[in-house]
Amino acid sequence: MEAFILEPVARRSQTVPAPHPLPGELQLIEAIRHRASGTANSTLRLGIGDDCAILSPPPGHDLLVTTDLSLEGRHFRRDWHSPRSIGHRALARGLSDLAAMGAQPLAALLSLALPRSVAANERWVNGFLDGLLALAKEHNVSLAGGDTSEAPGEQVLADIVLLGSAPAGTALRRSGARPGDGIYVTGKLGGATAELGELSREPKSLRKATNHGRHPHLFPQPRLATGAALRQRRLATACIDLSDGLSTDLAHLCSASSVAAEIRLAALPMDPLARRLGAKQARHAALHGGEDYELLFTASPKAVVPKTLGGVRLTRIGTILRASRSRPQIVVIAANGARKPLEPGGWEHFS
Ligand code: ADP
Ligand code: MG
Repeated sequence: MEAFILEPVARRSQTVPAPHPLPGELQLIEAIRHRASGTANSTLRLGIGDDCAILSPPPGHDLLVTTDLSLEGRHFRRDWHSPRSIGHRALARGLSDLAAMGAQPLAALLSLALPRSVAANERWVNGFLDGLLALAKEHNVSLAGGDTSEAPGEQVLADIVLLGSAPAGTALRRSGARPGDGIYVTGKLGGATAELGELSREPKSLRKATNHGRHPHLFPQPRLATGAALRQRRLATACIDLSDGLSTDLAHLCSASSVAAEIRLAALPMDPLARRLGAKQARHAALHGGEDYELLFTASPKAVVPKTLGGVRLTRIGTILRASRSRPQIVVIAANGARKPLEPGGWEHFS
């Protein structure tokens, strides 16, 4: 139970109702504890059930920590996304951040705010845990703890903290790109936007989708093996995951590295779902669509970058340039050689 020590008692009674446990909160936590025991890994000393979890990260490693909110109405809709997809996506977002830094995931903490009706809906809760725990097992992450509360309104909130590790000083960063480096992406681009469009038109058609099919929006695959291999082989000079879209995330990488970039439109690896939208919309989805959760990285011109790494294809899409006041941060080169600036999120040229 939380204590509201900063609120005077009189005001508190008007503005903040005394926190009651959710109906069945203990059973809910017990069910989570039972199911999470299947995710215990070698770094977990003590999991759900005490005041804190205890982890023993590998000696000589840095600890990497990230947190991601999944908010109903902002990141998912219960009338579009199956509970399985919501659970998968909530964990995938944080795993993708660990992948971007080449970290090995260790443990996750899950904070849930649930409306009463959802907490009482066993099918929904079980589906959510199915999606989350299947992905946790796939990547050997233990669900080590969390918090549970009744939501003040009718919307679900899931916050996930992820802990990972990497040998001290070796984690990939956004800041190491240098002029002349090649720019690469994993996998295909634009698929998440294309599938989200399909979902918005026909939510029911994708209700039964599972992690086994290719579902770039509903079940994105965090590129942990590729991130770890880039770090181990010292291939990447900088790396970021594509959560906000190529144009925005490449701008983040360029700003952090104090460089500029050019990318070739013809080189972008388009997802087949995006291709179906037609050339112009596919380009827009690949450049600006968020949530592909692929990795964007740079490598020295001397590096030998393989065609596939960690089971996914790598594609060179451009080159890092020296930053200059007289030139935009990112330039796109069209198939006919025309060069246009690429504004983060606002790409509407070559139409
Ligand atoms: P406390 O009040 O000491 O924070 P809680 O009653 O909130 O303890 O939680 C009891 C145990 O259950 C703790 O180990 C906590 O980490 C775990 N827990 C609570 N909610 C969740 C959740 N949504 N997911 C995973 N573990 C949870
Ligand atoms: Mg608590």
